Amino acid sequence: MRLRLPEERPTEPPTGHKIAHPVLSQDGTRAGFTGVSLGGALPYGVVADASCVYGLRHRPPHRRCDCGFHSVHDRTVAEALLCGSEHRTALLLEVSVLGAYIRFEHGFRSARQRVRTATAGPCACGTAAAALADAGWGRPGWRVLAPSCAGCLRGRIAVSLAQFARLAGDGLRVRAAGGTAAPAAGADTGTAQGLGVPELVAEAALLQARLDWFQTQLARLGRPGAEGPAQG
Ligand SMILES: [Zn+2]
Ligand SMILES: [Zn+2]
Repeated sequence: MRLRLPEERPTEPPTGHKIAHPVLSQDGTRAGFTGVSLGGALPYGVVADASCVYGLRHRPPHRRCDCGFHSVHDRTVAEALLCGSEHRTALLLEVSVLGAYIRFEHGFRSARQRVRTATAGPCACGTAAAALADAGWGRPGWRVLAPSCAGCLRGRIAVSLAQFARLAGDGLRVRAAGGTAAPAAGADTGTAQGLGVPELVAEAALLQARLDWFQTQLARLGRPGAEGPAQG
């Protein structure tokens, strides 16, 4: 006889919380996430199906494996993970737990998930994040990003929070939390669709910061062709 756990049939998918690093594809056209531990090598999109991280031929979440999307019930438990030194720049995700799932004391392991909201902590300088910028490491084909304010972007590859939401698609919301206020900081930067005034102000601030940096670099190179148009 095989013992079975009672099956749940919720009317709405349960909500889970987790942390993950935001990633941007090498060509800059796709955005997603990569887990902080198990499964960290496999970037996933906003709506995704789990595959067994050990390459076993079973459907996650398998009872005798630990594959599937992991999440916890309690947001503060997920938030606590962000204190770990290697997780400081990860985002806090709120997910819908979809498909078959196994519920345990602290959370879920599921076949499928939808990331509803991603929350970016402050820039390393303490200012609220306005963008997600190249963190200096990644996976093959994917750059890992980290929260950055406009002032700390410099020449790094970066996307605004709203751009990240657009590239990731599927109605993802990306917001900034914590840190000292910057223009439009803390505002919900909207979904993949409609940008409002705060989002456009934030985009303009980013562009201005980029332009300032660019002009500083140009100035450093001197002013070639000051006596007339450059030849060649
Ligand atoms: Zn497995
Ligand atoms: Zn900064």
